[in-house]
Amino acid sequence: MTESCIFCKIVQKEAPASIVYEDEKVVAFLSIQPINVGHTLVVPKKHYENIYEIPEEKIAYMYKIVKKLSYAVQKAVNAEGIRIVQNNGETAGQVVFHIHVHIIPMNKDSQWVHRLENRAADALKDDARKIRQFI
Ligand code: 5GP
Ligand code: ZN
Repeated sequence: MTESCIFCKIVQKEAPASIVYEDEKVVAFLSIQPINVGHTLVVPKKHYENIYEIPEEKIAYMYKIVKKLSYAVQKAVNAEGIRIVQNNGETAGQVVFHIHVHIIPMNKDSQWVHRLENRAADALKDDARKIRQFI
C-alpha cells in the first residue's frame, strides 16, 4: 500500500468506488471520469506503478480478468466496440501511478478524451450493477 495512492485506497476500501469485480488478486471498478458509460478499470491489489514494475505472471492474470470483464461490459452497455488501453508514464497519459487496464466501450461517435464532468455516484452504482449481471 502506498499512502497517497488513490487506487490503493480503493483496494483497501478506504475510498469509495463502484466495484464490478473483485478476487484475491485484482479489483475492477468504474472510472470516475468515463469516456463512455461502463468504462472499467482493472487494477492489481498490490501496488505496482507500471508495466515495467509488475511481474509477468501478475499482468498475465490481470489480462485474464480483462477478457472476462470485456464481455460483461460489452453486454451491459451494448457497445459496438471495446478499446483496451494501458498507459505507462505521464507522456503516455498515465495520471494514476498504480497500474491499471482500461476497458472502454466505444460507439461510432466515441472520442478518446476524458469527460469534463464526473459521473454521479448513483449512476456509477447502477452501471456497475448492469455489468455484474454478465460476469
Ligand atoms: P490513466 O490516465 O492513469 O491511464 O487513467 C486514470 C483513470 O483513473 C481515469 O479513467 C480516471 O477517470 C480514473 N480515476 C482517477 N481518479 C479516480 C478515482 O478517485 N476514482 C475512480 N473510480 N477513478 C478514478
Ligand atoms: Zn497504489
